[in-house]
Amino acid sequence: MLYETAKYHKGSESMKELIEKAQEFLETNNISLTVMESGEYDYGLAHYNPVNKTIVLSIKAIKDKAEQWNISPDDYILLVMAHEIGHYYDTEGEIINNSLEQISDEFGLEEEEKIWRLIKQRELNAWENGMRYIPSHLENDYKIMNLINLEYRYCSTKISLMAAKHNKEKIKLTEKLAELSRELKTVRTKNIELMEENFNLRFGKDEFSEI
Ligand SMILES: [Zn+2]
Repeated sequence: MLYETAKYHKGSESMKELIEKAQEFLETNNISLTVMESGEYDYGLAHYNPVNKTIVLSIKAIKDKAEQWNISPDDYILLVMAHEIGHYYDTEGEIINNSLEQISDEFGLEEEEKIWRLIKQRELNAWENGMRYIPSHLENDYKIMNLINLEYRYCSTKISLMAAKHNKEKIKLTEKLAELSRELKTVRTKNIELMEENFNLRFGKDEFSEI
């Protein structure tokens, strides 16, 4: 295996060389994917794009991580590549992606759980499928990287869901504001009782206390 025999001199390899090695690794294993480099941390460490069959690597992020872990960038790239190839070989991947796309925007707790279940399954499949590329000296690191990845996915999924819900609430409140400002122009013609009734209907105690 290419990466097992690769000689490593700390920091001596250019980004281009690392990308070339990653591409060579795919070719050695007869995997028809293309490696691309992302500028900075656009996709985190790596990203598999099933549409244009590419693995996008952030060499800068990978080099930083390798340094933190005190392993060679070659080894760290192998960990990341194995996982991304694992996505490529995931026979459930397309079904999972389609299911995720079909989940309605009006999601509640049940949908939230479903979204996380699907994303988790997708990551677990990649983990398992990528295992065959991992030499024994990296087994433990591969496990740790995948566990961290799961936690990372969990947090980012939660954040996305919260942002989506927050955004929906924001739209609702903005609409209310617009409606209110429209009514302010006509409200002078109404009597005070009607105004009060209107206020209580729109911003009743229960609803108002939520804000
Ligand atoms: Zn993944």
